[in-house]
Amino acid sequence: MYSIVLINAWALAVNFMKVAPAWLAIHVPVGFTIICGARLLVWWRARHTVPMAEAAHEALKQTNRFALILSVTLTTWALALFPYGDAHLQGNIAFFIGITGLGVIICLQQLPSAAFIAAIVINAGFVMWFSLAGVAAFAGMAVNLVLVSIALLMVVTVQFRHFAGAVSARRKLETVSRENFRLANLDSLTGLPNRRQFFTLLETAFAEAGEGRLAVGIIDLDGFKPVNDLYGHKIGDDLLVEVGRRLASLMEDNTRIARLGGDEFALTVADCPGDEQLLALGEEICKALRDPFVLMEATVQLSGSIGFAAYPEMAESAHDLYERADYALYQGKRSNRGHAVLFANSHVAEIEKEKRIEQALGTADLEHEIDVVFQPIVDILSGRTVAFEALARWTSPALGSLPPGQFIPVAERIGLIGQLTRVLLKKALVSASRWPDEVGLSFNLSTHDISTSDGAVAIVGIIMASGIDPERLDFEITETAMMYDFVQAKTAINMLKGLGCGIALDDFGTGYSSLSQLHALPLTKIKIDRSFVTDLHKNPASFKIVKSLLALSSDMGLSCVIEGVETEDELAVLKNLGGELVQGYFYSRPMPEIDIPGFLRQPVEARAAG
Ligand code: C2E
Ligand code: CA
Ligand code: CA
Repeated sequence: MYSIVLINAWALAVNFMKVAPAWLAIHVPVGFTIICGARLLVWWRARHTVPMAEAAHEALKQTNRFALILSVTLTTWALALFPYGDAHLQGNIAFFIGITGLGVIICLQQLPSAAFIAAIVINAGFVMWFSLAGVAAFAGMAVNLVLVSIALLMVVTVQFRHFAGAVSARRKLETVSRENFRLANLDSLTGLPNRRQFFTLLETAFAEAGEGRLAVGIIDLDGFKPVNDLYGHKIGDDLLVEVGRRLASLMEDNTRIARLGGDEFALTVADCPGDEQLLALGEEICKALRDPFVLMEATVQLSGSIGFAAYPEMAESAHDLYERADYALYQGKRSNRGHAVLFANSHVAEIEKEKRIEQALGTADLEHEIDVVFQPIVDILSGRTVAFEALARWTSPALGSLPPGQFIPVAERIGLIGQLTRVLLKKALVSASRWPDEVGLSFNLSTHDISTSDGAVAIVGIIMASGIDPERLDFEITETAMMYDFVQAKTAINMLKGLGCGIALDDFGTGYSSLSQLHALPLTKIKIDRSFVTDLHKNPASFKIVKSLLALSSDMGLSCVIEGVETEDELAVLKNLGGELVQGYFYSRPMPEIDIPGFLRQPVEARAAG
């Protein structure tokens, strides 16, 4: 715009230099040139910067003011030249004002207010002057100019509406896409990066790691699900938010935390130091998670386990790194719950072995390869066998015989446990139907058996079909089974209880069952884990635990089986503590069905304690 104004002004000035005084024909256009040049320079310099909204608003107001000053001075100057020119030069002035005015309007179309100011000033000056001039040709020109200006202003107005519409649509689009980005990459509950974003972060960190060491940690909360089930999702959500906050507060410049989903979080540690520091960081996190969470409606206690893997020693790709950290976590949860575990080389062999087990189990002929052995549960005082616990055994043609601790978790993972349980239960019931009526059967159920209604219904069907009195049956469940889906598990347990079966809480004392949970379940029995029984007579801590667990079970009106009794010394202590039912190698190792009649025929006095 300034270029048009200056070039047009100089084209007019040149024609008037010989006839008009120098101040008017030269000095004024020089003044224009300096002022317009300065404005031009300011705009040019700022062409790449995007001003803040306030500064932009101020600049537009300035432009309005400048449009007024420019159009007033330009029109006044041109008209001031009028008396010096002949008819041709006067025509030149009229043309200059008209065409420059239209040019200015077009150039200011993005700021209609300025375009209107310029149009009004220029047209008003033009119309007034030329109608007073009394020349018909000029009057005609004035009418032409006014009409064209009006048309042009209409076009500018319509254009501007489209322009403004497009700008606000674009802004909306930007806001929406920013929001979409946020939703797609951040966890809505905790505000931490979500699973998807975590993997992006991990890939980036991996690409940037170069020679450096990069670690991944996966955190899983222990005991979150029961809180969620018992107190409701609102408290569960509050708890996760608080967990997220605690974890985030422990992060440093080189660590990033994310929520993978549920009660699982993950972190990346760039420029990761040695294993010791990594484990120290892990323990710090575990410690923070063990502090009680004081929420609006309840105070709850949790713990968290972490699995770590580090590049380059333990993994070759970002995916490997994640998988191995996950494996370390899985191992940690089994053997060192509530602590940090680093992926170890020994895990590689375990993973290989599990893969082989997985393959063999997937194609196994369960009916023929799976068997049940039985371990007696004995009344400590009379020495009578009150029941047998059924324990699974698998003899794989490819891998030989494997303990349940190795294949049950794999069966659970590959979704084969339901089928496996059904085969085992049928076999165990067939055996039990051959025992005397007063000898019961205790059967282990896995998490998955009671966390689906199909599983529970199938179990009930098998019991009914066996013809055995359900009162002879106990089902053993672990606390972890309840962590999966408390409500469904409770429904399944109620169904079995309703049938007349007993419900035993297995491995009691090792997990996280709270007393409120014990109350919430229709239990009939608890089984004290064998870890408390080993060397009970030498270990005061174990002694105290067993003593209080026995007191607890009797207070709650539950019977109690003490597992893992191996020696006479242990048995003697248990008897003193008032233990009633025991199970362990001291009486018998798990035996095949065929040995049961012989075992039951043994004189009970031989088994009665002390
Ligand atoms: P569990 O239910 O706690 O079973 C007791 C385990 O302790 C059995 O191991 C048994 O052989 C062992 N045991 C018994 N007395 C003693 C003792 O005095 N000393 C020692 N050191 N160990 C003793 P097993 O048969 O290897 O079973 C391991 C676990 O596998 C079981 O622990 C149970 O959780 C699971 N399991 C076994 N059979 C089944 C099954 O049919 N279904 C399901 N879902 N899980 C099963
Ligand atoms: Ca058991
Ligand atoms: Ca047990």
